[in-house]
Amino acid sequence: MIINIAHLYGNLLNTYGDVGNIMAFAHEARKAGFDTNIDIISLGDDFDYKKYDFVFFGGGQDYEQSIVQKDLIKKRDSIVAYIENGGILLAICGGYQLLGQYYYDAYNKKIDGLKIFDHYTINQENKHRFTGNIKVKSALNKDDLYTGFENHGGVTFLGSKQKPFAYVIEGNGNNGKDKSEGFRYKNTIGSYLHGPLLAKNKNLCKDLINILRDRRNK
Ligand code: GLN
Repeated sequence: MIINIAHLYGNLLNTYGDVGNIMAFAHEARKAGFDTNIDIISLGDDFDYKKYDFVFFGGGQDYEQSIVQKDLIKKRDSIVAYIENGGILLAICGGYQLLGQYYYDAYNKKIDGLKIFDHYTINQENKHRFTGNIKVKSALNKDDLYTGFENHGGVTFLGSKQKPFAYVIEGNGNNGKDKSEGFRYKNTIGSYLHGPLLAKNKNLCKDLINILRDRRNK
């Protein structure tokens, strides 16, 4: 059986080895007996949400984010359908910001998000960034710890109905204030954890492979 992986804007958003998430996921999927096919879905490409089993949406610089934003809006309906259908989506940093309402970049330019989720992102004073190692505790499974590396100027606040992906033990996470890190909805995860997250945290990668298996066995 073949599983299809989409790397959204993989040629534009791919900071700090984010592509390692795809490598780790594909590696575990092959160990679980699947063959893998990886497509980059970028500017002007259709996103056929029915085709994909795993979608990765990585981080990027402000400039690339502003280019992607203009194209992204055309793929909005298929991304919403993919998410609501329970598809597995991992969005890191810039990708995570773009799923929300808006993002104010380091020069105070507003970049509209896809507005699929309620979170919004503003910038920090004097172009300050949150940079460094981060350790968090899963919100879903309290015994699961995840580690990663964060590097973001944006600070994100979740909407009142949104649930965090994890809680910060060390580092900053969404905003350095409320201890929340990322968000989770159905099988969609948004997070600031570069690392790459799935390469550094085999427990999370395996959880996603289990979800993949369950979806395939339905
Ligand atoms: N440009 C965004 C920020 O600085 C995202 C950075 C990233 O994806 N690493 O907040």
